[in-house]
Amino acid sequence: MQRGKKDLRMNGVCNMRKRLSGFRKEIVSLLDVRGIPLSVKDIHSACGESDLSTVYRALEYLESAGMVKALAIPCGCGQSRYYYTGKDHIHYLHCEECHSFIPIPCSGMKKREEDIRSNYNFDVTEHVLLFFGKCGSCKARNKFL
Ligand SMILES: [Zn+2]
Ligand SMILES: [Zn+2]
Ligand SMILES: [Zn+2]
Repeated sequence: MQRGKKDLRMNGVCNMRKRLSGFRKEIVSLLDVRGIPLSVKDIHSACGESDLSTVYRALEYLESAGMVKALAIPCGCGQSRYYYTGKDHIHYLHCEECHSFIPIPCSGMKKREEDIRSNYNFDVTEHVLLFFGKCGSCKARNKFL
């Protein structure tokens, strides 16, 4: 199944980086490779050798260092997700049914930020955009129910 394949790949990446550097760097490369926000549980099961509190501590450090960011997901899947900030700024689509993330490029936002600056006298330093809805495979699955 697809899930198994994905897990195997994540473990491979983690084991490879483990020898090179510390656990923090391992988390960063996992988030970098996956390219979508991951929950603490996802991170823990991908880099399975440590306990959960080690993962939390590492994420706390990485967040304070500005290398990862937390994203609160107001959806049934609840928990915060973490994503790598070192890559191009992107946005995510989140499926409310299967809770998957799909990264999409950021476009048209420079103009909005300029509008905000002139209309509200507000300097935007950052924006976060999450779109919620139903992904293609969930739509297809529902058709046959
Ligand atoms: Zn879906
Ligand atoms: Zn969700
Ligand atoms: Zn953007």
